[in-house]
Amino acid sequence: MSIVKGVEKIVNPLQQSALNKKGLCDYVVNVASGCLHGCTFCYVPSTPAIRTKQAQLHSKGVSDPQMDWGQYLFVREEIPEQLEKILSRKRTWRETPPGKGVVLVCSGTDPYQTKQTANVTRGVVEALSRYNKKVRILTRGLLWVNDIDILNRTNVIVGMSLPYLNDELSRQIEPQAPPPSQRYKAMLTGHKAGCRMYVAVAPTPPNMTLDDFKRHLEKIMCINPEVIFWEPINARGSNGKRMIAAGLDFTDSIRHKKSWAECFKRQWNDIETAAREVGCEDRLHIWPDPELRGFVDDVKLDYWLYKPTVEKWDSLTPSKK
Ligand code: SF4
Repeated sequence: MSIVKGVEKIVNPLQQSALNKKGLCDYVVNVASGCLHGCTFCYVPSTPAIRTKQAQLHSKGVSDPQMDWGQYLFVREEIPEQLEKILSRKRTWRETPPGKGVVLVCSGTDPYQTKQTANVTRGVVEALSRYNKKVRILTRGLLWVNDIDILNRTNVIVGMSLPYLNDELSRQIEPQAPPPSQRYKAMLTGHKAGCRMYVAVAPTPPNMTLDDFKRHLEKIMCINPEVIFWEPINARGSNGKRMIAAGLDFTDSIRHKKSWAECFKRQWNDIETAAREVGCEDRLHIWPDPELRGFVDDVKLDYWLYKPTVEKWDSLTPSKK
């Protein structure tokens, strides 16, 4: 399928989110549906956000919304204006202990993948900032560096997904995203410009070892991230099929629940050991999968589920309620 691009309208761009279980947010704003980065492991096409829109996507020329992930993008250009109206009327704001009232931009697409999404994202950040909301950017794109003038505020934290620093491996796993070496440079730029930063070491492929994690965390500490999230690749949905289609040999070793859980446990142990040795254990935040229950100790699992991060948002004046 050749790339399909367009725009789309949605009724309410500010959605409550269950991602407080990962310590990420209480709300999400998604500036588009679809994502041109087309990461092979991406779980988004398996979620209701895409599954409930099959017919709509077919009518726009997307033949297989799951397997064609990475080949379509529908940008929600009206979101900044919509958000302004919603925020001006909103009298209550959800603020759970792990979600901290934060708005994640984005959970189901990349906010800085094209100039068009970057423009919408800039408007979103400006609207949220006008209402003193906490904003968490999550991207693999580089265009956020052009927005440093509005991202280096205390109500904003910028994070990039950086599972490794191997550009060659990245070409296989996240074929259309900017190489990790460039993402790292962008983060150094943001750090030097005073942006609050975090890193998602996610998702890590099963062949990463303790030494790989140590080297990676040492590099990451150069940008002084407030928190370092971690999770391994999960290949048990339609993403597993895309990973196999992309020729990722390691996929078979994690397609079944038991082998995936064993890999998760091994890497969990490795990244904790690496973080201890590098001296960043206090910033490491594990994203455990509830499906690990029965494979890891309940106490260990429950410790991380819904755990607030160590990020400090205290310098903010209280949000408008
Ligand atoms: S950048 Fe994020 S949303 Fe886009 S394909 Fe990759 S994992 Fe999915």
